[in-house]
Amino acid sequence: MNRKPILYSLEPFDPAGHRVRATLTIADPTPSGQVISMPAWIPGSYLIRDFSRQVEAISARCGRQSLAIKKLDNHTWRVAPCQGAITITADIYAWDLSVRGAHLDESHGFFNGTSVFLKAHGHEDHPCELKLIPPPGRLGWSVHTSMPLSSRARLAQSSKGFSVYSVPDYDALIDHPIEMGRPQVTRFTACGAQHELVFTGVTPGLDLPRIARDVKRICEAQIRFFEPTSQQAPFLDCAQKYVFMTMVTGDSYGGLEHRASTALMASRKDLPTIGQEKTSDGYQTFLGLVSHEYFHTWNVKRIKPAAFAPYNLAKENYTELLWIFEGFTSYYDDLFLLRSGVIDQPTYLKTLGKQIASVWASPGRAKQSVAESSFDAWTRYYKQDENSPNALVSYYTKGSLVALALDLTIRHATHGQHSLDDVMRLMWNRFGRDFYQSGVRGIRENEFPALVREATGVDVRNEVQAWAYGRNDIPLAKLFAQHGMTMQWAATSKTPSVGMRVRKQSEQQVIATVFEHGPAHQAGLSANDVLIAINGLKVDSVSNTVDALLAPYQPGDRITIHVFRRDELRQFELTLAPAAQTECKLNLAATS
Ligand code: ZN
Repeated sequence: MNRKPILYSLEPFDPAGHRVRATLTIADPTPSGQVISMPAWIPGSYLIRDFSRQVEAISARCGRQSLAIKKLDNHTWRVAPCQGAITITADIYAWDLSVRGAHLDESHGFFNGTSVFLKAHGHEDHPCELKLIPPPGRLGWSVHTSMPLSSRARLAQSSKGFSVYSVPDYDALIDHPIEMGRPQVTRFTACGAQHELVFTGVTPGLDLPRIARDVKRICEAQIRFFEPTSQQAPFLDCAQKYVFMTMVTGDSYGGLEHRASTALMASRKDLPTIGQEKTSDGYQTFLGLVSHEYFHTWNVKRIKPAAFAPYNLAKENYTELLWIFEGFTSYYDDLFLLRSGVIDQPTYLKTLGKQIASVWASPGRAKQSVAESSFDAWTRYYKQDENSPNALVSYYTKGSLVALALDLTIRHATHGQHSLDDVMRLMWNRFGRDFYQSGVRGIRENEFPALVREATGVDVRNEVQAWAYGRNDIPLAKLFAQHGMTMQWAATSKTPSVGMRVRKQSEQQVIATVFEHGPAHQAGLSANDVLIAINGLKVDSVSNTVDALLAPYQPGDRITIHVFRRDELRQFELTLAPAAQTECKLNLAATS
């Protein structure tokens, strides 16, 4: 069948007003009227975002004739029938500084395809060609994307990337985000494959060689993990290079995975500058994020739940398995910092201890399993509020502990002959490597225990049932003991606890979360109460913080807290609890 390519163009025509123009030309539109739509969500971020709401103007024509467009629902339109090729033009507002949207000003443009490219229904399998048009004026921008240049454009390379790109289908078109501007760029090869690190945002003295060196080690460790024999990078079937595109700001953190690239947000203070030798906690966090998103190239971009193969971008795609795709990725991200030698073993154990402590800090873990948390991601995990720590469990953090617990279980049962690594490689071999070729399916909802059995010989049906589908705590201390490790809890300070989290709001201290069953809950304090005084002394955000004011007291002491609620002064009496044991210490026993 001859599938005529859909021709797209993208032009950042109004950087000052944050407007971008996207067109698509369909040579063989649906005779009864071409239906087009914008995705309602972006894969990897499980929330309906209705990107169509940023479409300010949309029009269609057939040659010189303009065509009527009728809107069918929030994100779908139908173009009036006509004979011959049609072109649809959309002007889109791009001012969302996040890894999930589109952002344009005079300094740069960042575009996720889900925010700018309309889908031609019935033509999803047609190849797409994209022409990138530079912004007006001589801004000296270059383009950075994993999207492959068309074969003709590859021959004529002098356009700084403002050229024509070519992908096999719409799904690929929206999975290669595009950065343009004047970023700091460095490149390296890992196992022979090209990688590019792109940093947008003012970051003086950025130590690019160091970052490239560290990221290369992480990439090589992961490639060799999944492909011990061929050592082949996973993305070479759809891209010439992998691109890490990082937006650097004063205070941000986040990432979103794609098939041959990732979009990241990082804080300036977390990135290393030239001359700085120590690995700061912030830099370790950045490398952990890099490791996480790169691991997704295998786990979720290719090894997928059946519910995501293919994605339905018009509505929620439900799966109970995000604890495998986000949780296992969260387990391996830090583990690959250790395996690649970027951090040492004591640092790794400290990081793992923090992960365990963060799960135990949320009372919500007794109300929701990670399977339920996965299923409800769309309305709960991605719509968190002040009560979320009491109501939710994270399929990231608890999911990573499920991975850890399964890894320890498999290693113990097989006397170190097998591990979770074997399960990952089996899933890669069967479902991942050839995913973008036709005929490979995703992992079914109830299939995972059988895969563990096949890869390792260990029956983990009961464990998976209890840890992923149940709400009790995972018996980590017992599992660690089988490996000669100890897990101990300690309090980080002696200050007694009131059972609440506080946030700063201008100069005021405001209650962010009241933990269920704690003293604050029992007394009736609530989220958003503005703290005024503790036992008659003023609370502020400088020296009289809640912790500082509580430090002189002992567990069991009665105290009075004054707050404003809806501008009304309220008084609460409560009994202080012992300092919470929030620090989890892991140790390798002296003898094992
Ligand atoms: Zn992730």
